Amino acid sequence: MKKYLKKITEKTKREYLEELNEKLHNNTKSFIITVNPETLMLSKKNIDIKNILEDKNNSLVPDGIAVVKACQKIGMNVQERITGIDLCEYLLCLANEKNYSLALFGATKEVLEKLILKIKKEYPNIKLLECSNGYIENKEQEMKKIIELNPDICLVALGIPEQEILISKYIENAKKGIYIGVGGSLDVLSGTKKRAPEIFIKLNLEWLYRIIKEPKRIKRFWNNNIKFLFVLRKESHE
Ligand code: UDP
Repeated sequence: MKKYLKKITEKTKREYLEELNEKLHNNTKSFIITVNPETLMLSKKNIDIKNILEDKNNSLVPDGIAVVKACQKIGMNVQERITGIDLCEYLLCLANEKNYSLALFGATKEVLEKLILKIKKEYPNIKLLECSNGYIENKEQEMKKIIELNPDICLVALGIPEQEILISKYIENAKKGIYIGVGGSLDVLSGTKKRAPEIFIKLNLEWLYRIIKEPKRIKRFWNNNIKFLFVLRKESHE
């Protein structure tokens, strides 16, 4: 897992967002992976995720606090989390400012409807090229359609690993664009789900808030975050 940690950006959030600004300005294509313990644990059993993390063209950002700490432990200068929701919020503002085009794919129909209303009201200059909920039958076809529409920004919210796998399958045909798998971020952006209060975020306890709000996440937390710590420990003794 160390080799994937080493690929994670050492930029601060501000520096990384500036990099995205430049990429958009220069029409540079980019696939961003928001790395958390779940991503890294999946790489052990899912060959597609393994290949995606290994692909030198992909940009990896530290989404979880455990990932930030693990990077620091191996001597990297990773300072803070850069989450999917941070990226989404920044990109929406930038798209509004610079009239960029956007494609949204994922989340429920209701969540998307709320989000479209919000975008029209708060980010009126965004060119919304495509919006599809994530419960349609032919997701491959939708992803292909989005690539053909050539958006500046594409947010795919189908959950890991499906969102990353779909993007990786079709992005080679894209001429430009920032593509990101954003998990539950559209639920939060639409106002359907609340992000943790600022104090939880500041104390790096956002994971705890999500468990309190959705106790069924405990199993997922154990299988990913806790086991991640064991795997890291084992690797450091090897
Ligand atoms: N989702 C979807 N289609 C599916 C399964 C999930 O669009 O077939 C969406 C779901 O509605 C949610 C997101 O994918 O908006 C995954 O959210 P989750 O909270 O699991 O992601 P996390 O942020 O924990 O990675």
